[in-house]
Amino acid sequence: MNKAIFLDRDGVLINNKDHYYIWESSQLEFIEGVFDNLQLLQQKGFQLFIVSNQGGISRGLYTKENIGQLHEELIQTFSNHQITISDILFCPHHSEIEKCLCRKPESLMIDKLMAKYGLNPLESILIGDNESDMIAAAMAGIQGIRITPNQNMSPFIAKLL
Ligand SMILES: [Mg+2]
Ligand SMILES: [Zn+2]
Repeated sequence: MNKAIFLDRDGVLINNKDHYYIWESSQLEFIEGVFDNLQLLQQKGFQLFIVSNQGGISRGLYTKENIGQLHEELIQTFSNHQITISDILFCPHHSEIEKCLCRKPESLMIDKLMAKYGLNPLESILIGDNESDMIAAAMAGIQGIRITPNQNMSPFIAKLL
């Protein structure tokens, strides 16, 4: 079975201190160390995935197509740094507008990826910057690592390497 790192997007890969919602490429600012850190995790045999709440879609601030385009660009940028993102799932709902089973702290996005890619929960980890990420990890039965938002995650992943 394969092992995976599930990455939250905003505050973990992309700096969100200036933008609460990020949906276009002009807003993309990668957090320090992110390319080196993901390369190291990949070298340790982890498959990489992104799971992101995008409640701004439900709020009508941007569309699923905007996010789809942005995520294609993300995958390309990581690929230019020899990093393979195997899949990205996002929840377009917002709990104040509509109920769903995918928005973290629910674990459906993680559960789906675990099943689709045959991942081993005992060796898989979610890296997030929010309590809802940690709850989602616990509900999916995997380890959660909570990092400081918008900072180099290397101290937090050092023990995995
Ligand atoms: Mg976050
Ligand atoms: Zn949802």
